[in-house]
Amino acid sequence: MAARKQALPTLSSPDRVVYPDAGITKRQVFDYYGAVAARLLEDSGQRLMSVVRCPDGIAGERFFQKHLGPAFGKAVHRIEIAENDGKRAEYAWLDDLAGVLSLAQMNVIEFHPWASKVTTLEKPDRLIFDLDPDPGIGWPKIKAAARELRDALVELGLTSFPRLSGGKGVHLVVPIAKRYSWDQGRDFCDWFAHEMERRQPARYVATMSKAKREGRIFIDWLRNGRGATAVSSFSLRARPGAPVAMPVTWDEFAGVRAPDRFKLKDAVRRIDAPIWDLASAGSQKLPKV
Ligand code: ATP
Ligand code: MN
Ligand code: MN
Repeated sequence: MAARKQALPTLSSPDRVVYPDAGITKRQVFDYYGAVAARLLEDSGQRLMSVVRCPDGIAGERFFQKHLGPAFGKAVHRIEIAENDGKRAEYAWLDDLAGVLSLAQMNVIEFHPWASKVTTLEKPDRLIFDLDPDPGIGWPKIKAAARELRDALVELGLTSFPRLSGGKGVHLVVPIAKRYSWDQGRDFCDWFAHEMERRQPARYVATMSKAKREGRIFIDWLRNGRGATAVSSFSLRARPGAPVAMPVTWDEFAGVRAPDRFKLKDAVRRIDAPIWDLASAGSQKLPKV
C-alpha cells in the first residue's frame, strides 16, 4: 500500500511531564516515536491499532482505546469493519511516520496491533504466546520457560521469536502463513498452551484463573482471537521508567537481565539492532494436532 506523504503533526504541550519518575516529557516521547517509527511500523504498520492514551501522563487516568475518530488526523487511516458481535465500528491503522506522530501528539503511549493486516483482515499472520508469570516467579525461571516453549514449538516445526514485553513477561511470536482463520490459529494456541500444562502442571497453567496461577506461568494464548491485541515491538509502556517492548534474537535473549531492561533511551540506540528473521519463517504452516 503506497504511503501518501503527509505533513507531520505539530507537537503541543511539549514540556508536559509524561513519566514523572523518569522526568520524561511529551516532547521526549514524541521524539522517541519519531526516531523509532520505522521499527514500530515494521511490526505493526497496516494493522488495526488499539492504543493506550495517558493525557495526564502515566500517573493520571489512562484509556485503552480501540476506536480512533477523525480527531486523530488524516495520517491515521480508518476502516469500518464488523466487530465480533456483528456491529460495525471504525478502526485505525498506520503506515507512516506522520501516522505514528499523530498518535504521539494525541498522548498515545502504547501501541497494540491486531495479528492480521488490513489487506487480509481475516487471516492472521502471526500467533502470540504471552507468558504471564505469577508475581513470585523470578526472571531466570521465566527465561527458562520461554526457551522451553521455543523448543516445544520447534518440535512442531515452528520457529518463534522473543519479545520482551517491557513489563513482567515475554511474548513468543510465531509468524504463520496467511491461510488460517482466526479460530484455527486460536485453537492451535489453546491446544499448545494446554499441552505445556499437561507436560508440566507444576510450572505452567493455560487458564486465566488467578488461583491456579500461583507459583506458575500462565501461558496466555488469548492474544490470538479475532480482535485481540498484543503490544507492538518498540512501543513504550505506560509504566515507571519508560520501558519499551523490545524484540530480541534468541542469542540476545540469553543475556537479557529483565523483561523491562530496555528503556526509552536504550531503545533509541537499538534502531539498527538485529531483526527477527521473518523471511525464513513467514510462511509457516500450523501442525495438525
Ligand atoms: P506483561 O509482560 O507485564 O504481562 P503485557 O503487555 O503482556 O505485559 P498483559 O496484561 O499480559 O500485558 O496483556 C494485556 C494485553 O491485552 C495487552 O498487550 C493488550 O494488547 C491487550 N488488551 C486488551 N484489552 C486491554 C485493556 N483494556 N487494557 C490493557 N490491555 C488490553
Ligand atoms: Mn503478558
Ligand atoms: Mn496476558
